[in-house]
Amino acid sequence: MEKADTPLAQVRANIADACQRARRDPGDVTLVAIGKHHPADAIVPLLEQDHRDFGENRVQEAQAKWPDLRARYPDVRLHLVGQLQSNKAEDAAALFDVIHSLDRSSLVKALGKAFDKTGRRVPCFVQVDIGAEEQKGGCAVSDLPALIEEARAADIPLAGLMCVPPQGIEPAPFFALLDKLASDNGLDGRSMGMSGDYETAIMLGATHVRVGTALFGKRD
Ligand SMILES: *Cc1c(COP(=O)(O)O)cnc(C)c1O
Repeated sequence: MEKADTPLAQVRANIADACQRARRDPGDVTLVAIGKHHPADAIVPLLEQDHRDFGENRVQEAQAKWPDLRARYPDVRLHLVGQLQSNKAEDAAALFDVIHSLDRSSLVKALGKAFDKTGRRVPCFVQVDIGAEEQKGGCAVSDLPALIEEARAADIPLAGLMCVPPQGIEPAPFFALLDKLASDNGLDGRSMGMSGDYETAIMLGATHVRVGTALFGKRD
């Protein structure tokens, strides 16, 4: 029951257009709706339009919001797209279905333990500090092969690579670099592209686009 005039319908149409231009199958691109800082009331309309992939950037906020929504829509897939503290690894393993922010050795260890303990092995994207920005999360490009090896040794299922390019400059070269790094490391998934640049990301191989503002409007 999709309404043609909703933001979700618009974003889906844009994704279909970008896929057509890139000669890609739209079924290979997952739209992750980032509902962070928006209440459950804002999320329900998307669930009612049969959207099922949602992302949050904080474990605590997700814990407050999602158990009730999940009870009503059990087939939801919940993605963690924000930095994860090692002491929250077990909570994250219990709640999320995909983690996009595996970015350091200590977190590999914490998640490995959490997965053993909870019996859930959650697919993880390794987040890459693609613009070499000091303040941002993500593993340095030069440290990536070692981190991937460590994650594989710890039996962490790897979904692919994730990045957030630097703000205010053309993101395409960063998306192209992430695509190459994923290929070089034998990984299929590329989590890249946000409200301002998801179509560009799709042209360059994104398998998961993380879109908040274009679906929910501005956050406070
Ligand atoms: C908030 C956020 C998004 C969504 O950003 P928009 O510009 O609102 O689409 C995507 N990825 C991450 C990691 C985020 O924190």
